[in-house]
Amino acid sequence: MSSTPSGKIRLATVWLSGCSGCHMSFLDLDEQLLELNEHIQLVHGPLVDRKDFPPEVDVVLVEGAVNNEEQKEMAGILREQSRIVVALGDCAVTGNVPAMRNGLPVKNLLESVYPVEGGHEPPGLSSGSEVPRLLPAALPLHAVVPVDVFLPGCPPHARTIGSALKALLKGERVVLEQGMCRFG
Ligand code: SF4
Repeated sequence: MSSTPSGKIRLATVWLSGCSGCHMSFLDLDEQLLELNEHIQLVHGPLVDRKDFPPEVDVVLVEGAVNNEEQKEMAGILREQSRIVVALGDCAVTGNVPAMRNGLPVKNLLESVYPVEGGHEPPGLSSGSEVPRLLPAALPLHAVVPVDVFLPGCPPHARTIGSALKALLKGERVVLEQGMCRFG
């Protein structure tokens, strides 16, 4: 698998509704990041200045649940423009923490977060407000777009992420060994 003239894999990361803990776990690869850097070109993510999602991405790691219209649109774009989509962490895999709001009426939820007066509706209730419209429920990534690899954990251990990336670099299946999932 390689897309760049240098033979490097084009890797992107995306931060949807998550706490950034999964990205922190990725950074916990520490010195292994230097080794991965020999094989990977980071083309998008919170650590990269580029704002739009680039074409021809080989692997994208997606943190967080799909919680609003903007994130739903981003999920469609990243799926269309990436060969392998990885749900990184329990929020992307199951909905996890963001999905705790599921079951609460969206209007009540937003009114408690954004107190408004005079009969105005809170931001996020309708399309076109200054914040993206909240979906009726926070969704795991696979409920919105097909996902190729699931890396559970809250967050997944750096070892799990490193092992998955190494397998993908070799074109192998990602196999989670016992003890590779952790919670909290
Ligand atoms: S899975 Fe856990 S660490 Fe990752 S974004 Fe969700 S809450 Fe944060």
